[in-house]
Amino acid sequence: MAGTTPIILWFRRDLRLGDHEALTAACATGRPVIPVFIHDDLVAGLGAAPKMRLGLSIASLSASLKDKDSRLILRKGEALDVLRDLIRQTGAGAVYWSRLYDPDSVARDKAVKSALKDDGITVESFKGHVLFEPWTVETKTGGFYKVYTPMWKSVRDRGVPDALPTPAKIPLPDQWPDTDALEDWKMAAAMQRGADILESYCTVGENAASHRLGAFIADRVATYQKNRDLPAVKGTSGLSENLTYGEISPRRCWHAGWRALLEGKADGEVFLKELVWREFAYHLAFHTPRITSGNWKEDWDQFPWNTDERLAEVKAWKQGRTGIKFVDAAMREMYVTGTMHNRGRMIVASYLTKHLLCHWKIGLDWFADCLIDWDPCSNAMGWQWSAGSGPDATPYFRVFNPVTQLDKFDKDRTYVSRWIAEGASAPSETALSYFDMIPRHWNMAPTDAYPDPVVPVDQGRKRALEAYEARSF
Ligand code: FAD
Repeated sequence: MAGTTPIILWFRRDLRLGDHEALTAACATGRPVIPVFIHDDLVAGLGAAPKMRLGLSIASLSASLKDKDSRLILRKGEALDVLRDLIRQTGAGAVYWSRLYDPDSVARDKAVKSALKDDGITVESFKGHVLFEPWTVETKTGGFYKVYTPMWKSVRDRGVPDALPTPAKIPLPDQWPDTDALEDWKMAAAMQRGADILESYCTVGENAASHRLGAFIADRVATYQKNRDLPAVKGTSGLSENLTYGEISPRRCWHAGWRALLEGKADGEVFLKELVWREFAYHLAFHTPRITSGNWKEDWDQFPWNTDERLAEVKAWKQGRTGIKFVDAAMREMYVTGTMHNRGRMIVASYLTKHLLCHWKIGLDWFADCLIDWDPCSNAMGWQWSAGSGPDATPYFRVFNPVTQLDKFDKDRTYVSRWIAEGASAPSETALSYFDMIPRHWNMAPTDAYPDPVVPVDQGRKRALEAYEARSF
């Protein structure tokens, strides 16, 4: 019986049809495939921007399945309850999915797998959105890498299998189960008046992701090393938005990077290295799940971080009015576009955790609310790297100076004027759009005077270094 019953394909952060191991395996059985997306607690708990962006990705996957005469069934509820319901309604004998590696997903999936197996259902999980699964990369003495560079060296020349083609045909069930309507999930609700503006910055779906990779390799990878640090220049791939929802597989990006490198574009190697930073984040989160919620270096629990979100400095940081232009421009860029240049991420994280002496978790949570490329593992690693509490982190005494950084990376102030309206005689459209998005109770207007620094750069640096010297660990 199990040999002919339908297979439920549970989509999560793998919202594509190409290079999809679980889907390819399900189709290869010839059994009917029922694609499903579940709005469970993990989806309910997403921040405003990532939830909205996820909704767009689901719509895109749904359209791609429709093109193949298939469907995406949408259901809301606890994952296990929903799957059991669907199994009852469809007679499915198996559930397939792509593995995830962050602590919350791992805990959920383990529980679901064991309960379904007890019910007599076949559960098969397949490699998820990484190049190298966390248990396949080990140091020479065993154990996982806690430092990036040796990990990079150990994986650089590993063979990565070719990407799988999109299945030509997805076998259909005789009858489709009921589905929720995506509109009823109101995925953009928490964005309030900002939804339309944010959406205009999104590049959604498998086809768009594929074009984005192609354009990056054709036009930008050759100058990636030079341009990737300049926030005013479109010098990077922008693929984090697509990778995070699985609209493109990391191995397609890996092979594209390698091809560029072999064709003589040396900066292809820098791109490959960045993809391995992402892997590093996944490996760390898998092996030390505490990285997403507490100090990776536990000594840092004793550090006197400010944890009070009501502080005026914290509000100023979130609202992009610290009076430090690089910080404010980057925070506004994130609010409007849902992404922030990597240089900006490092600057604003350093300013929050060092100049303002605030706990990195305040920043981690705000990013989780605002980023369309929010990723539980990369975000946690990025914040702990910046704060000094993470593995292979920048030392706490290395305090980025956001003023000299601006002189170095935004010499002619193109980036700053793109995002800051106050004080400009003719503010740019992008800078003005920020005021169309922010909550009215922030009481900010483009005609305001640009604020004085909430904490001047030299003073903040001195205070941070004193706190660091005074620590007892
Ligand atoms: P590219 O320069 O084109 O790089 C290619 C890909 O490599 C990226 O798409 C990304 O998947 C990966 N990558 C590049 N840099 C890093 C890095 N430092 N760490 C991990 N992976 C990397 N990245 C996220 O995807 N989601 C997050 O929530 C996130 N939060 C961050 C928070 C902080 C405080 C910091 C410092 C960094 C964070 N990053 C995060 C990493 C990085 O800033 C983004 O991945 C990058 O800016 C995405 O732009 P891109 O796709 O154009 O990258």
